[in-house]
This record gives sequence, structure tokens and C-alpha cells, in this order.
Amino acid sequence: MSEPRPASEPEVRTHYGACNLCEAICGLEFKVQGRKILSIRGDEADPLSRGHICPKAVALRDLYEDPDRLRKPLRRTESGWQEMDWDAAFELVAERLAGIIKAHGGNAVGAYLGNPSVHNYGHLTHAPALLRQLQTRNRYSATSVDQLPSQLMSYWLYGHQLLLAIPDLDRTQYFFVLGANPMASNGSLMTVPDFRNRVKALHARGGRMVVIDPRRSETAEVADEHHFIRPGGDAWLLLAMLQVIFAERLEKPGRLAEWLDGLDEVRAAVAPFTPERAAPQTGIAAEDIRRLAREFAAAEAAVCYGRMGVSVQAFGSVCQWAIQLLNLVTGNFDRAGGAMFTSPALDLIDSPASRPGHFGKWQSRVSGLPEFGGELPVAVLAEEILTPGEGQIRAMVTMAGNPILSTPNGAQLDRAFAQLEFMVSLDIYLNETTRHADVILPPTSALEHDHYDLIFHHFAVRNSARYNQPLFEKPADARHDWEILSEVGQRLATKLGNKPQNGPRPDQVVDFGLQSGPYGAARRSPDSSMPPLSLKTLKEHPHGIDLGPLQPSLPGRLRSEGQRIRCAVPLVLADIERLAALPETAAGLRLIGRRHVRSNNSWMHNSERLVKGKPRHQLLMHPADLAARGLADGAPVRVRSRVGEITVEVQSSVEMMPGVVSLPHGWGHAREGVRLGVAQAHAGVSVNDLTDERELDAVSGNAALNGLAVEVLAA
Ligand code: SF4
Repeated sequence: MSEPRPASEPEVRTHYGACNLCEAICGLEFKVQGRKILSIRGDEADPLSRGHICPKAVALRDLYEDPDRLRKPLRRTESGWQEMDWDAAFELVAERLAGIIKAHGGNAVGAYLGNPSVHNYGHLTHAPALLRQLQTRNRYSATSVDQLPSQLMSYWLYGHQLLLAIPDLDRTQYFFVLGANPMASNGSLMTVPDFRNRVKALHARGGRMVVIDPRRSETAEVADEHHFIRPGGDAWLLLAMLQVIFAERLEKPGRLAEWLDGLDEVRAAVAPFTPERAAPQTGIAAEDIRRLAREFAAAEAAVCYGRMGVSVQAFGSVCQWAIQLLNLVTGNFDRAGGAMFTSPALDLIDSPASRPGHFGKWQSRVSGLPEFGGELPVAVLAEEILTPGEGQIRAMVTMAGNPILSTPNGAQLDRAFAQLEFMVSLDIYLNETTRHADVILPPTSALEHDHYDLIFHHFAVRNSARYNQPLFEKPADARHDWEILSEVGQRLATKLGNKPQNGPRPDQVVDFGLQSGPYGAARRSPDSSMPPLSLKTLKEHPHGIDLGPLQPSLPGRLRSEGQRIRCAVPLVLADIERLAALPETAAGLRLIGRRHVRSNNSWMHNSERLVKGKPRHQLLMHPADLAARGLADGAPVRVRSRVGEITVEVQSSVEMMPGVVSLPHGWGHAREGVRLGVAQAHAGVSVNDLTDERELDAVSGNAALNGLAVEVLAA
């Protein structure tokens, strides 16, 4: 018999929650005693994640308990950082922002939204009201160092920036993957917890996975076929596959033909991209390109998926457009096993607050780059601060994120932030970015607030809905992110002479969205066996509710004019013409990023259990490239680009394509003034001290982080 529990010891309780550390949104089972977390496991009953978790999930406990996590507002003073009370902090922030807006106009305040704001629903429901008060065109986010080309193509082709077509992974027979490593990430713009077992199921039903990557990644390891590709060559490969499909009359859009326009222009645009011309640009033999195109067109159900690796390159928009076209012209769109739209329970595409997007309504002041959806490319943020004149940014509001480490030429942005008149950061850490702030406002931990994932249900390979109560009550003197955003917004409004807005709580927003959504009482089919969805229903089902596999939804789901898919996007076709005329890429080393299952972004590096063991932030280089430069495995090397130089340990790796080197992002914690004890002990170097703010995707302005020309020299 077990020992009786002492009367004073709290009971062990089980709580079902969600992991919000990455896009996979895994369901979790917590065992807790009082405020002590005893264990974190995958929730077997979660309809989407089915018990899966990755090693990062246990870091939720580390983040919660982290002594470096800020719990009270901090203010910079001449004698260092000092805690302050919330009321004084709100007043100071509103006063300073209002003063700068009154003196210099709204554009004098820049706003940056970073990760993980998109994983916290209160942030999403309440940031817009504050942004409206700022009245600034200088809005930036992590979108333009990541998925901007994907959202832009969704806007142009399907009429809404969130209308992304997701691989129907559980039913496909041919999964063609470029620039993505879902074995490490569990999917991105494809929420796919338990990717490993889903690929096993693909193989068990006789399907194939082909991976194109300059590194033999973890995903390439479990693929049926892997091809190295020269960084930046993906557009050539995709256009050549389209060329083969058109030239050999393999296109078969089937029922999609009814909604497709402009295929003749597309056929003409891709005609110059023969496999023979693409071979030297990609490093893939012409016969392989031809075979891959034929296999893709002939597969029973195929889907092409390309993620960050193909977005953050010089022709990122062309890549994302070509991926859509491959799926469309082969009829692998809006069909089981192809690329499909999801039907989320709270549908941001179909809600009253829907924001389809807009492009080029205004341009950045200095370089003239176009806005998309109200945001400018973050690559121009530093110059907008550093260049004097009307509209110069003098103050910043950062909401999560760490752009000093995550945007191109981070060292330049570091210098720019240092000269701001005022900066306020919503963040739980004093990190490389927030160390420039005058005030830091720390929201509650993810375990202290409730959660409904507003975004990633839209991108999941299976429809489901889940709401989770907080694991712990928030401490009395703590504020949720939405409370901070709301309070700053209201005080700022008052000081600017505007009407303060006090919207509903995030859970009320969700309840309304669920009830008026496709599974809510208003629109649910009368013969449905499922209860109508509302917040109450989800509270009664803490594991979540399965809403079934993805369903065909054309043309009703399209938000484009006349529900037509206009394939011949003028700016993309012009960029394809430019690509065709470019000379072959010059020889020399090219730099790419990489993802590790234990790291997502810089803010995870303060968890000892995620960073312990062998360092993972070395430069990977093929042995032949080491030998050619007389470099030794494990030696420090200097890596140099147009904008900077770093010193890092090099590691010999046959995973790498010869001529390509790789560094992960989010490291570089040795900067002064940071309060991240664990991360500083595993500092690494920042790849974004090398990336170049001038290297951009010409169509969208997205940062071209991959394929950067670098030199590697003995240190
Ligand atoms: S894959 Fe890992 S980090 Fe991502 S949601 Fe699941 S448990 Fe969390």
C-alpha cells in the first residue's frame, strides 16, 4: 500500500492543455500538484495530435518556472533596470507614445509583431485595437522573414491571404517537398503533429515522398528519394517541372478547369525553362527533373509543398506561385490527397473581421518597398529608423519576437534600435531586442491563460477544434497580453483625444466565432450528429472535437473576384521573365538555415533541457569544401558576407551539398545587457549578422535569407 498523502499536500490533478510553442498545436496532458508540474505528456485523445509531443513540450515547464522570465514591468533608469507597478508603466508608455505621435505623426512610431504572438489568441484579438491607435504605416512582423510569398500567392490566386491550400497528407500518394523539414518542425503552414507516423502511413499505403533540399535533412532521411538542390535553384526546378507537364500535355486540371484563367500565358511563361536549362541551375540532372514531373502528373493523388526554405530566397514568390500551379494544373487541388482548403470551426476567412489583404497601397519611405496586408517588409525597418526626414521612425512598439536575431543584418537593426527616442516591448524576457526598450511589459505565461488557436486550425491537415482552460490561475498582480494591449490602447486613445475602445474578452470573441461559424448553431446542418459548437461545447470536450478530414470546397471557398483563379499573375510572370534572363549563379559558397527539433526561436534557448548536450549551432560544411580550404573539422572559422563577419566552429558533414554551408537561426546570445542565463551559456552566433537586408524577393520584399554568398576562412 502506498503511503497516505500528508493532509497539507494538495491533490494531484490532471489537466488537458495545448502546446503553443510551434504550429503543430499538440494536445497535452499535465499532472500537477498545487503549482508544481509533475509531468507533461501527449494527450492520446486529442483528435489531431493523437498523443504526439516533441522534446520542446516539456520546456513549457521550464519557461513557466524560469527565474529569468519577467513577472513585473521593468523600466530602464540611469542606475539600471527597475521594476515598476502596472499603472505607472501604462501611464509612462501612453504618455511617451502620444507625445511622439503628436509631435511627429503616427508614422514616427514603428510596430513589430514577432513570434510567438500568433500562438497566443489574446494577442491576436487585441493587438489590432492598439495598432489602430498608433495610426502608423510603419508596421512590421516576422511574416516578411518567413511566409510572406505564400500569403501573397493566396491573396492573388484565391482572394484571401489566409486561404492557404494545405497538403492532405493523410490521403496523398505522392508527397513532393521542397525547403521544409517537417520531421524537425512537425509542419509549418501545414499543422501536422506526428509527422513521422503520418509518413509511415503514407508508405504503408504504397505512397512516396520526394524531398528536395540542399541538406540531407531529417525529412530527407525518411524520404523515398532525395535530391540536393543548389540554393536558389528551386524556382528553376518548379518551372521546369511545369514546362515538362505542358510540353508533354500532361496537364489535367479536370473539374478545376471551370475556374482557372490564364493557363495559356502560364504555358508561354514557363516554356524557356527546359530541364536541360534547369539542370546547371539546380544541380539536378535533366532526366531526373523530367521524371519527377511525369511522376507527379501521373500519381493517383499528389501534392507539392514548399515552405520556408523556398520562401526566403530571391525568387520566393515565383516558387510559391509555381507550387500552386503544379497542384492546380495536375488536378491535385481541392481533392482528397492533394492540396486542400480547411474548414476551421472559427473561420477567419468567413468572419466579420475577415481581412483578405491588400498589396502596394503604400510603399516604404526610403526604398519604396510595397506593403502587404498593412505591413512593410522588415528588411527596411533599420533604414526607416536610421534615415532622417519626414516620417522617420523615432519610437518602437515590439510585441514578442526578437528581430535583432531574426531579421536580416541584425547588427544594423541593433544600431538603429539604440538611437530610438523611446521603445516599449511586450515580452517575457530581457533579450537581445528588448534590452533596447525603455519599458518592458511582461504578459502571463502560456500556462496561466486559456487558449483557442485562432490561426493554426486554418492550416491543419485535419479539421478539429479545441479550447483549453489555463493550467494555473494568473498571479494577482499579473496581466494577460490582451489586458496589456487593451490598457495601453485605451490610455493612448485618451491622450490622443480619440474614443477609447473596450472590446470583448478573447473567450467571448471565440464563443461568437464558433457559434456563427460553419459548425455553430446558425449554420450547422440539421441532420448533423455533432453538437453545435460554442465555447461551452468545447469546454465540455477538453481533448478537442474532431471535425473530420479536409473536404472539397471549390468554388464556394474562393474569395477572388468572380470566384475565378487567375493564374497569370502579372508581377510573377514579369519575375519569371527576369529569372530566365539571369546568368547562371556564380560559383562560391552559399549559406542556408536549418531547423532542429529542440529549437524553434531564440526564446527557447533559455531552457537547459533544450540546449544541453552537444552544441547545435555550428556551421555545417561538406568535407570536400573543408579540404579545399585547408580547414579542420571542429576548428573555428570566419564566415564573411557583404554585411558582416562571424566566427563559429565548423563541423564536417556529408549531409551538406558541396558548395553549401548551413547555420541555424536564433542564436547569438552573447550581446551585452541580456538577461537569459542559460542562453548566454550556450550563446552561439547569429546567422542574421551575415544575412543582407538588400537581398530580397523582388515581388514581395520578403528577405532572401537562403542562398547568401559567403566566404569561409580559417579563424
Ligand atoms: S511539435 Fe512539440 S513544440 Fe510543437 S506543438 Fe507539438 S509538442 Fe509543442
